[in-house]
Amino acid sequence: MTTHYLGESWVETYGKSSGIVTTARITHATPAALYAHAPSRYWEDDSRVPPTVRKDCKDIALQLVENEPGRSINVVMGGGRRHFLPTITPDPEHPNREGRRLDGRNLAEDWAREKKRRRLRAQYVHTKEQLVKLDPRTVDYLLGLFEYSHMEFNAERGASSTDAEEGTSATSTVKADDPSLADMTRAALSILTKNDKGFFLLIEGGRIDHAHHYNNPYRALDETLELETALLAALERVNPAETLIVVTADHGHVMTFGGQATPRGHPVLGADTVVSDIDGLRYTTLLYGTGPGHSEPRALPLNTTVSIGALADAVHASAVPRQWATHGGEDVPVYALGPMATILFTGVIEQSYIPHAIAYAACIAHQSRRCQEKKNFTQAPVEKPPNCVISEVSSVSAQDEMRSDGSSGRRIVVASSVMSDERASRSTAPLPAMLLMGKPLISKSFDLLARISTVWFITRL
Ligand SMILES: [Zn+2]
Repeated sequence: MTTHYLGESWVETYGKSSGIVTTARITHATPAALYAHAPSRYWEDDSRVPPTVRKDCKDIALQLVENEPGRSINVVMGGGRRHFLPTITPDPEHPNREGRRLDGRNLAEDWAREKKRRRLRAQYVHTKEQLVKLDPRTVDYLLGLFEYSHMEFNAERGASSTDAEEGTSATSTVKADDPSLADMTRAALSILTKNDKGFFLLIEGGRIDHAHHYNNPYRALDETLELETALLAALERVNPAETLIVVTADHGHVMTFGGQATPRGHPVLGADTVVSDIDGLRYTTLLYGTGPGHSEPRALPLNTTVSIGALADAVHASAVPRQWATHGGEDVPVYALGPMATILFTGVIEQSYIPHAIAYAACIAHQSRRCQEKKNFTQAPVEKPPNCVISEVSSVSAQDEMRSDGSSGRRIVVASSVMSDERASRSTAPLPAMLLMGKPLISKSFDLLARISTVWFITRL
């Protein structure tokens, strides 16, 4: 279903622009669902497609570049250069690593060439510096591949790093700075909002999920705050009176948030102030049901006096040992703002309802006739609210109304999360310990969003 979001029948037919922004590989599960069909999510390049079907089945990266709707998506940003480069080509930021394509093609170059052939104004970038220099007035199609695999966790962004790929000797590399999710969101909107007919944008905080798989709540929460920053950046650039924003997740995680005595102001990454009444040992407020944090005897929370780095790397305890933590099965919240948000997104819904609701609000696809009828429900009926009720779009809307950027009618979308790489070895898992506080990560909204992999959608009508 989501494939058609960006397909000709769902967005392009109605003259809207489209985009995908993620901190995961652009060929990873969530972004790929928007433009590719594949029997396996792991067919991100042709080396993973079984030789017997390689002739008939296109890998995911190739579908993005050659097939509809991928080739028509205006903005594509994330990680995953390795799936676009041939095996003989070293990665620009990690010279000791090569591309993975067996067909010898450089798909980043092919993408640019194909756009040029169609006389489209397109640009490929792979560093933050290039992204910052970009003039959105002269670019209608943008491909940004900022990392070899997933983009760095925010905690590591911009820092020197050590490459240690499986089976190779470690080499120190000073990497180019990566843009943040908010940086990419701003750049995407600067291009997409040029279209007066509107747009659809998916923004994924793709690494919240990965940190939870490691039982590392510090990075999971840090990445959640990065998603919040990106959302706030988007809200500064769109008018919620005409732009539907949906924030949700594709699943939860097995993190629990408990403790017997955690007074107000107690660090959420720290330990309960009282020990277990069974074994007399300390334990952290945040714990996991499954994952690499399991040990016997169980590890104790770090002391608050250790370095911030050690605290950030700490792995919290899990009940059941697993190489990676599993996802959770609980319901996840869906937050929505904008046209019809309170009408369409309420109560308990199935996940497959969400694209239909967006299509309904946007009058696209099978819901396109709605806006041609006499009654146009996009504009909610004006009713005088009771004095005790604050109006839905409140201050954000009012603030945006004052801007005169001609933002008449568009769409955006944002989203997140997926499984970690099936081939990653256990040795890459973070430290086997437990943790305490770090910087005041949770000062803002620490809620269910903290333990879900977040996804959001913005749709300008
Ligand atoms: Zn996952």
